[in-house]
Amino acid sequence: MEGEIGSGDGRPRPATNVEPELAAARPRRWFGHAAHDQAPGPFRPSWASPPRRRPFRGTRAVSSTRPSSESLVTLDGSRGEGGGQILRTALTLSLLTGRPFRISRIRANRDKPGLRPQHKAAVEAAALLGNASVLGCEVGSRDVVFRPGAVEPRDLTIDVGTAGSTGLILQTLHLPLAMRAETARRLTLIGGTFNPKAPPYLFLERTWRAHLATLGMPVALASPLAGFYPKGGGRLEAWIEPARPKPWVRTTRGDLARIHGVAGAANLPEHVANRMRDRAHARLSEAGLDVKVEIETASWSSIGQGAAIGLTAEHAGTAPATFVGVGERGKPAERVADEAVDELLDFLAVPDAAVDLHSADQILLPLALAEGRSVYTVSSVTEHLRTNAATIAAFLDRPIEIEEAPADGRPGRVVVG
Ligand code: AMP
Repeated sequence: MEGEIGSGDGRPRPATNVEPELAAARPRRWFGHAAHDQAPGPFRPSWASPPRRRPFRGTRAVSSTRPSSESLVTLDGSRGEGGGQILRTALTLSLLTGRPFRISRIRANRDKPGLRPQHKAAVEAAALLGNASVLGCEVGSRDVVFRPGAVEPRDLTIDVGTAGSTGLILQTLHLPLAMRAETARRLTLIGGTFNPKAPPYLFLERTWRAHLATLGMPVALASPLAGFYPKGGGRLEAWIEPARPKPWVRTTRGDLARIHGVAGAANLPEHVANRMRDRAHARLSEAGLDVKVEIETASWSSIGQGAAIGLTAEHAGTAPATFVGVGERGKPAERVADEAVDELLDFLAVPDAAVDLHSADQILLPLALAEGRSVYTVSSVTEHLRTNAATIAAFLDRPIEIEEAPADGRPGRVVVG
């Protein structure tokens, strides 16, 4: 059985089709040891005032009869990076902690502020999963109030309805599904699979999944159809195993084993993928790197047009790091390749960085939920990383310390717990 959203009136539907064994089970509630008895403070960036260090007391699953309506978390969506990540992290943590939240000034720093269709879909899907009541879940809305009920994991099909990122919806739902489900759950997401400024499928498959595996959280992914702006229609399928994240220490990077790449295009002339490949070869060989970029044979199936190139660096002892350039109308193929090459070279220039700049903010959330201390080095400390730390701090009483990367080739460092 599965829940489905993306059509109809757009409002989250109640959980009417829950598997009998789950419906019968007493819903488990999880509470981070957040200060439930304190009034929520304003959205306070953790980098502005360092969190107090407290002995770690564990983030274990506990049954609780406490109503989730206490301890409303209030978030200012314009703070820090000011993008959709604040909302997505809040949805994930609200489902896992039972704490309701209110977010105002959503995506105030973006060209089109407020909820976009992919954010609306994420809110609806989270509401469906967590039997939540929601206010303000409309495209363009800048204020949302989300009050979760009991999380009832189920298979879900979500159609964003536009080319909005499927990867970001996957990342919103992954932890509540993995940490609450008792059997593997399947997510089918329809929308964009290659979006600029969001995790593209190649990154999710090669890098995000590998990080999760090292955290003890197996996920299988498939993308039978690629989705590009503006038509979307891509398909991302995920099979999520029940799991709890384990803490993680990665403070060095082993030797470079190899760099490999793939370039592909959908419904575009053959020269597009060839030019991306040739540019990447030329730039990387100039940098003294021997890299083979394969052309994805027959290119990608898609209902629209699009192109992308992904370059993956594999080092001993850490997850592969993948850097993706995504084509856009009017952007020359060479520039698409340059974007991936530039990110790869920046990463390689910081030899002790175990984690790339994008993974750095994405693995912070599972590590904040893991029981134990985690430490990792990063090639660069981004505003996404700082902002995610601040959003997590609004829900969980876990100290997160971020040390900037000095500009001399040494990495930044993240310490959780
Ligand atoms: P936001 O801009 O707040 O919606 O968040 C965007 C998310 O997408 C962040 O978690 C970024 O790390 C992630 N992201 C952006 N670009 C890439 C990329 N090229 N590869 C992987 N992840 C990305």
